Amino acid sequence: MAGAQAWLEKIRALPLARKVKIMNVCGGHERSITQAGLRGVLPDNVELVPGPGCPVCVCPEEDIYQAIQLALQDKVILVAFGDMLRVPVNVPKGEVRSLVEAQAAGADVRPIASPTEARKIALDNPGKPVVFFAAGFETTIAPVAAALAEGLPENLSILLSGRLTWPAVAMLLDSGTPGFDALVAPGHVATVMGPDEWRFVVDKHGLPTAVAGFLPESLLASFYSVLRQVADGKRFLDNCYLEVAHAAGNPTAQRLLAQTLDVVDANWRGIGIIPKSGYALKPEYAAWNARLKYPDHADPTRRRIGEMPPGCDCAKVVLGKLYPNQCRLYGKACTPRTPVGPCMVSDEGACRIWWSGGVRE
Ligand code: SF4
Repeated sequence: MAGAQAWLEKIRALPLARKVKIMNVCGGHERSITQAGLRGVLPDNVELVPGPGCPVCVCPEEDIYQAIQLALQDKVILVAFGDMLRVPVNVPKGEVRSLVEAQAAGADVRPIASPTEARKIALDNPGKPVVFFAAGFETTIAPVAAALAEGLPENLSILLSGRLTWPAVAMLLDSGTPGFDALVAPGHVATVMGPDEWRFVVDKHGLPTAVAGFLPESLLASFYSVLRQVADGKRFLDNCYLEVAHAAGNPTAQRLLAQTLDVVDANWRGIGIIPKSGYALKPEYAAWNARLKYPDHADPTRRRIGEMPPGCDCAKVVLGKLYPNQCRLYGKACTPRTPVGPCMVSDEGACRIWWSGGVRE
C-alpha cells in the first residue's frame, strides 16, 4: 500500500477550493473503494458517489419475469449468471418472484459463470431447449458475441439484456443536473472499448475524467488526476489503467460485438429508455434469439411492470442521486438475506457492497 499512501498524500496536498463529487461507474470500483475504506481517508471536501455500475440492477424487470416464465412454462433449461438468480420481480405474494424460487418450484435453473458453460450444458442436453439469460455490460457481452460468432448449438438460444455504460452517464450529463463534478471511468469497459469512449465527458461537458483500474493505488491515482484537474482549472481524459486499458481497447472484441449485435434504445429498470444503450442480436442470428423463439409471457395485468419494488430506491442509487444507506429500507426490510431490490442482490450493487463493507446505517 506504499503506492496508495503516496497518492493519498498528494491528494491531501492539493489546494481544493470547494467540495468535489467524483462518480464511479463500475461495481468493481465501488467494491474496492468500500473494502479499502477509501471514503474514510480522503479529505472531507472529496465525495465519492457510486453510479450506474451494476447491470443486474438495471436489467428490465420484465426480462427477469420472462426468464422465470420460460423456465416454468416452457420447461427450458434456464442458465444465467449467478447474481441474477435472486433478483425479485413484482408479482403478488405467493407467486414465483425470482429464478431461485422457480428453481425451488421444480424449474431447471442453473447458475453459470461464462457462455462456455452455457454451450456445454446445451451440448450435454441435446434433446432439451436451453436459454442463456445474458445480462451485462460491454465486458460481459463481448464473450457472448464471441460465442455467437463461433456458432451456437441449435438447442441454445439467448435472452439478451446487454447494456452499454457510457449512454447512462451521457443521459445524466445531458439532464443538466448530473450530481457530480468529475468522473472515474470503468477500467474493464475501457479495456474492451478503449478509453476514448469517455472523451465526450471532457469535450462536451467539461468534466475531469480518468480511467481507473481496480486496486486502491489505481483508484487513488485517478482521484488525484481528476482533483488536480479541478485544482489547476484544466480538463483532460487521463488513463490511470495504462497497463491494461490500451488506446485502441480490444479490437477483436469490438469487431465481434459489431458483427453479431446491434446497438438499440433500451429500457433500464426504474429509469426508463436510454437511447442507444442496449445490445440486441442482429437479424442473421434470429435462430438463437430467445425473444423471437419463445412466446412473450408479458402479463399486462401485472402491477408495477418494469419498476423497482415498492419502497426501493435502487434506481436513484444507480444514478448516484442517493447513497444506499439513504434508502429507508436499507438494513431494515432489505438486507442480503432478505433483498427487496436488485442493488442488494448483485455483487456489483452498491447496496450489497456497502452492507458487505460494514455500513450498517
Ligand atoms: Fe433497494 Fe434495498 Fe437498496 Fe433500498 S437498500 S435501494 S430497497 S436494494
